[in-house]
Amino acid sequence: MHPHHHDYPQAVVPNPPPRRLLKGQAAIVTGASSGIGRAVAISMGAAGANVCLNYSSEAHAAEEAVAEIESHGSHAFAHKADVSNEEQVLAMFDAVRREFGTFDILVNNAGLQQDAKIEDLTLAQWQKVIDVNLTGQFLCSREAVREFKKRGVRPEVSCAAGKIICMSSVHEVIPWAGHVNYAASKGGVMLMMKSIAQEVAPWRIRVNSICPGAIRTPINTEAWDTPEHYEALMKLIPYKRIGEPSEIGRAAVWLASDDSDYIHGTSLFVDGGMTLYPGFEAGG
Ligand code: NAD
Repeated sequence: MHPHHHDYPQAVVPNPPPRRLLKGQAAIVTGASSGIGRAVAISMGAAGANVCLNYSSEAHAAEEAVAEIESHGSHAFAHKADVSNEEQVLAMFDAVRREFGTFDILVNNAGLQQDAKIEDLTLAQWQKVIDVNLTGQFLCSREAVREFKKRGVRPEVSCAAGKIICMSSVHEVIPWAGHVNYAASKGGVMLMMKSIAQEVAPWRIRVNSICPGAIRTPINTEAWDTPEHYEALMKLIPYKRIGEPSEIGRAAVWLASDDSDYIHGTSLFVDGGMTLYPGFEAGG
C-alpha cells in the first residue's frame, strides 16, 4: 500500500533572504491585494523594484501590502481597476507612467473561479471568468507591449525592454471537471502568452507564464482548511506539501530578472509535481 504523506520526512518550507535582482525596475502586479499577487508584489518590492499594486475591491489590504513594500525601501502605490474594463486598464497604465515614468514588468495575476457543473454553468459565470482571467490579461499585456516597444531597452536597467508574466495554472494542461470556464480561461492564457511571445521577441520583450499547482490562498481554502481535505490534496502532489504564495513570489522575481534572460515563451510549472500524473505514483 502507498504510505500516507505523514509517513514521509517532514516538509520544510524554504525562506531565503531576498536578493536585489530587480533594482531600478518598476512592476505592475494585478490582483495584488491577496494571495499570490500580494506575495509577488512584496517579493518584487523586496528585490528592489517599485511596484503598482492593482486591486479590485480590498483597498485596505492593498494599502497594507504597499506599506510592507515601502519598509523594504522601494516605492509602491495601490491602484483600483477592474482588469476586464478597457477604460480602467488604460487609466491604470497612465497612473503608473505618472508615478514611475515608465515600467519594466507586468504580472497578469488577477483571476477568479465561478464553479458549476457544465449543465448548470450560466453564461454569466462563463463570461465573468473569461473576462477577468483571459481578456484582462490581454488588455494589460497590450498596454505593456505598447510601452516596452515605444521605450526600448535601457541596458543599465535590464537586458530586456520589458517582461510580461502571466499567472496561468496547472489547469492550462490538466482538465478540470466542474471548472470548465476556469480551465478554458487558463488554456487560453497559454496560447495567448506563447503567441504574444512569438510576436514581440525581436523587440526584446520577454513573455512567460507561471503555472502554480495548489498554493495556500483564499481561492482554494476548502482544499486545505481541514486535515482531511489536506490529506486528500496530498494524493495530487508528489512532493507532499502545499505550496506557499512566497514560492510563486520568488519564481516571479527570477522570471522577471536578467538571471532568466534567455527564457521566453515558456510555462514554468511551480506545482510540487502535480503535473506528473500522481495517480501513477504507486506504480499504477
Ligand atoms: P486570490 O483570490 O487570493 O487572488 C485573486 C485576486 O484577483 C484577488 O485579489 C481579487 O481581488 C483579484 N481580482 C479578481 N477579479 C479582478 C478584477 N476584475 N480586476 C482586478 N483584480 C481582480 O487567489 P490567488 O490564488 O492568489 O490567485 C491569483 C492567481 O493565481 C489567479 O490568476 C489564479 O487563477 C492563479 N492560480 C492560483 C492557484 C492556487 O492554488 N492558489 C493555482 C493556480 C493558479
